[in-house]
Amino acid sequence: MNLTAESHSIPLSDGNQIPLLGLGTYGDPRTTPKDTALECVKLAIDVGYRHFDGALVYFNEHEVGQAIREKIADGTVTRKDIFYCGKLWNTFHPPDMPGMDFYPKDQDGKYIYHHTDLCATWEALEACKDAGLVKSLGVSNFNRRQLELLLNKPGLKHKPVSNQVECHPYFTQPKLLEYCRQNDIVIVGYCPIGSSRDASWVNLKSPPLLEDELLVSIGKKYNKSTAQVALRFNVQRGVVVIPKSFNPERIKHNFQIFDFSLTEEEMKAIEGLNKNIRFVELLMWSDHPEYPFHDEY
Ligand code: NDP
Repeated sequence: MNLTAESHSIPLSDGNQIPLLGLGTYGDPRTTPKDTALECVKLAIDVGYRHFDGALVYFNEHEVGQAIREKIADGTVTRKDIFYCGKLWNTFHPPDMPGMDFYPKDQDGKYIYHHTDLCATWEALEACKDAGLVKSLGVSNFNRRQLELLLNKPGLKHKPVSNQVECHPYFTQPKLLEYCRQNDIVIVGYCPIGSSRDASWVNLKSPPLLEDELLVSIGKKYNKSTAQVALRFNVQRGVVVIPKSFNPERIKHNFQIFDFSLTEEEMKAIEGLNKNIRFVELLMWSDHPEYPFHDEY
């Protein structure tokens, strides 16, 4: 497939298309100045990004939406050009679930869980698609068992088209990727350049990806950075990447991955960097019955 800056989408099983490169929009709400996401998404649209990854729980979704509206109003894009991914936050699974506390805890400081029925949530999401509120339905951080649960659900109306999970040269997801390929599920890779390494939520046992010697040496060969090599690696094997940057130069830089390609040997060598250590472990929820990362994949 000939991927270009203007044309780098792949098909989803429901007939829609997803651009292989998108902009991640999670920035720590405590330290990110107001309107940063607004300005960055507008710039990204000017640069050529057509895919934006957001979520209610990032607390800036209104800014991302405002940016898209402004770039439609000024004629740069139409709504049809933009692929926007939002996410249902976990306190909103039952449609009638009350409360605006996103991280509810009891008096002892323990997280309050409810009995998640993933199939029931999926049926509510299917109703959203049928009502025209969303165009495609995907999942995030699902392991194989959870994907099978949906795929084998009696009366399944819409299959999940994507699974957004951690994926980069130090966590290449070979088994989940293979399983998803067999089931027409596209993998969307988060932390594609090795995360923010923010110790408040990132596991720092894995070394900094962008300092990897192999990625550095391959980058030198093509006059590219390690970030660009890491992004190109996933894109070239059909894994969608959503690098986050709120820095104008790096937003432009991360988009420059369509003017070079890696050889088969380089792709194999990068696959060999897999360390099977997650940056995102979410261990504070590891006692939840649906915690996805106890399984091998
Ligand atoms: P990324 O791998 O995208 O890394 C982002 C970090 O890298 C930021 O600190 C950014 O800083 C920095 N950076 C960006 N470009 C470069 C570059 N070229 N060279 C050096 N540093 C760079 O990690 P994320 O955790 O942000 O993941 C990407 C997106 O995935 C998120 O924004 C979010 O949309 C999604 N996500 C989804 C999760 C889920 O559970 N579904 C979990 C985690 C993330 P700066 O902004 O200053 O450029």
